Order: sequence, then structure tokens, then C-alpha cells
Amino acid sequence: MSTHDPRFFTFRQLMELDACTRCGECVAWCPTFAEKPELDAITPLRKIEAVRRFVYQQNGLWARLFRSRPPDRAALQDHSAGTYDCTLCGRCGTVCPVHIDTRHLWIAMRETMVRQGVYPGSLDHLREMVTTHYNISGDPNENRLIWAENLPEVPEGVGGKERAEVVYFVGCVASFYPRSYSVPQSLVEVMERAGTDYMTLGGEEWCCGFPLIIAGMGEAAVESVYHNVEAVRRTGATRLVATCPSCYHTWKHDYPRIIGEPLGFEVLHATELLEGIVGDLPLKPLEQTVTYHDPCDLGRTSGIYDAPRNVVRAIPGVTLVEMEHHHEYALCCGGGGDVEMADKTLTEAVAQRRIVQARETGAKVLLSACQQCERTLMGAARREKVRVRVMDVVELVARQMAAESAD
Ligand code: SF4
Ligand code: SF4
Repeated sequence: MSTHDPRFFTFRQLMELDACTRCGECVAWCPTFAEKPELDAITPLRKIEAVRRFVYQQNGLWARLFRSRPPDRAALQDHSAGTYDCTLCGRCGTVCPVHIDTRHLWIAMRETMVRQGVYPGSLDHLREMVTTHYNISGDPNENRLIWAENLPEVPEGVGGKERAEVVYFVGCVASFYPRSYSVPQSLVEVMERAGTDYMTLGGEEWCCGFPLIIAGMGEAAVESVYHNVEAVRRTGATRLVATCPSCYHTWKHDYPRIIGEPLGFEVLHATELLEGIVGDLPLKPLEQTVTYHDPCDLGRTSGIYDAPRNVVRAIPGVTLVEMEHHHEYALCCGGGGDVEMADKTLTEAVAQRRIVQARETGAKVLLSACQQCERTLMGAARREKVRVRVMDVVELVARQMAAESAD
């Protein structure tokens, strides 16, 4: 098989390669190209052009009649840089007039780059961590519940149950990065107050596989996928809830495709769970203007826009205002697509643009529903000296609940 054999792409994707009209509409919406205009290869139309050329060079009529030419190494390297300097935010797909499913196309392109060994070296480390330690940080996986240690008392649902109605899938970022510990702590406090029958998987939770799937290394994630599905099925749970939108998206959309059958339980993002219970929680009013950042994997790629906003509006006194770009046009935080591993300064530049949009609303609180967004936006607020508090929606709910109880 040639390195750009058409069989590496789905029939739809091959059609999409031809369907691109080169109108350039996507270029103006690309957050990474805006910050790195010297790398033309980032733009959707250049990525599509490059792959069309590679496929033709190796499989076109000329190649069949005479000789297939391997792609030029410099061209491959340029294409790889453009493919990995992409947050996979999917904005280009939203504005594309011919509805190219760009995000899946970019992932397929990354897979071809991995096959040819032209990808950021840091991704080898990521693959090593996930396949040997079952998490992205390389910490011992049995430490996944370390965030629970400074809860006033560790509830039975966190580490003491073998069966429950709801499994809370915590995710690698919230499990191993101390700045995110308060997200799982908050969700647990809320579920305790709401009387939810929940449990976590502890060390039996393995990385959901998302970072490898989007790196173009999906084959290395398959073991984790099967392990996680079996671990949840053993609990008899009817619902799985995730605070991380990438875990959520992977469970909901990729897992059934990978295992080739329905999961047998419902998959919810934490904001969907909260939407159903927030009305029954005692919440202290908050007379404040807040804004909400749509995480790409929750909004554009999963279609969940209302649940987080409904939860925020359920807090008495809160005024929710939108940033210049929101819902399906929301600007990415810069933290997606494994870009941080390829070019950290690019992530920071995109995050800076987003934090400026938040500042322009006048909001004192910038909410999101993703630990990665929270982390990148917090960093941008600190660097840009923007006086806005960055929080997850679930953290705000837990804070108002605690404040009401303290009164
Ligand atoms: S918007 Fe769509 S059709 Fe237009 S250049 Fe971009 S990918 Fe091609
Ligand atoms: S997915 Fe986002 S970052 Fe990637 S090319 Fe499209 S708009 Fe640019």
C-alpha cells in the first residue's frame, strides 16, 4: 500500500477532498492560522490540497501508468506541521459552505502522518504513558483518587462501592493535575447533596483514549477502550457521567464505533446531569455578571450548548452575557488537538485572544465546563493580567451551594 493510499480515508473523506472549492471561508475562522500566519499549511484548504496531491502522485492515472512517486519529505514535513498545529476545534467545518467534516478529516490526515513517522516526537511519550501507565501523566494509576483526599470526608461513592446507578468517569486531567482537583471535588459534593447513587472506578479507570485518537494513534487506544467499557459494565450502572468534554465525546461517539455495539448505558456530560438536579439544590444568590466559554468538544463537536447555560441561569441573581464568539462560532481556548505538545506558544496565543474576548464582556467570572479550557484560560488571564475569575460551571454550583449552607 502506498503511504497515501485512498483506503486510509473513508469514501466520504475522499469525496470531501474533491468537494473543497478553495473558497477560503475557513481561513478567516481558523484560530491557529490567525496566530501563525507564516505557516500556510495550517489552513484547511492547504491541508486538503496537500493530501489531494499526495494521493494523486501515488495513485493517479499517471502513477499507475508509469511510476508512483513517494511524497517529497519537505512537503510531508510542512503538511505534518500544519496538521498538528491545529486545535481540532472544528470551526472550519462550521463555516464550510460544502459541509466538509474537517475535524474527522484532520484526524485521518494525522493517522497518515503517524504511519509515515512524520509527527511531533512528544506524541511518542504520550503513547508510552497511556499504554503503560494508563494515564497521560505517567503517575501510578492507582493514585487516580488523590483529589478526594482533602474532601472533608471521603464519601462512599468515591472509593467504596462496586455497583451504582451512575459511574463518574473523572478523566486524566482532573485526576492528576492539582489545579483541576476542585472539579471532581465539586461534582462529588453536588451529587452527595442531590442523593445521587454514584461511584468512581479508581485505578480501574484508564485514560479514555482521546489524546491518542486525536493524535492519529487511535490503534494504541483500543485496549483502553475495551478495558473501560468492561469496567463500567461490571458496575451495572445505567449512566456514565464525565466532567471532561473530551472524555464525554469519546465515550459517547467513539466508543460505540470502536467496540462495534451500543454501550448499554447512557453517557452524560456533568452539565447535563446538573441541569436535571440544579433546581433542587439550595443555592446562595450571586449578583454577578458571568460569561461562558463553549469547550469545542462539548459545543461544536457534541452539540451541547444549552445545558451549561441553563445550569448557570438557575443560580439566582446571575446575569449571563455572551462573548463576541459563542455557541458554534466560539473561539477555541487553544488547548485542544494536542497542540500544546507541538507548540505551547501557539496554545498561549490562542488563549490570549479568547481571554480578551472575555474581558470585553465586563464579566467578573469566566465559566467553562472543561478542565483543559479552565487551565489554558487561567494561564492566559494571569499572563494578560485580566481580572476575571476562571471557573468550571460545576465549581460555581458547588460554591453557591456551600455558601447557602454556611449562612
Ligand atoms: S470553507 Fe470548505 S470549501 Fe471553502 S476552502 Fe475551506 S474547506 Fe474548502
Ligand atoms: S479545526 Fe480549528 S484550528 Fe484546525 S484548521 Fe479548523 S479552524 Fe483551524
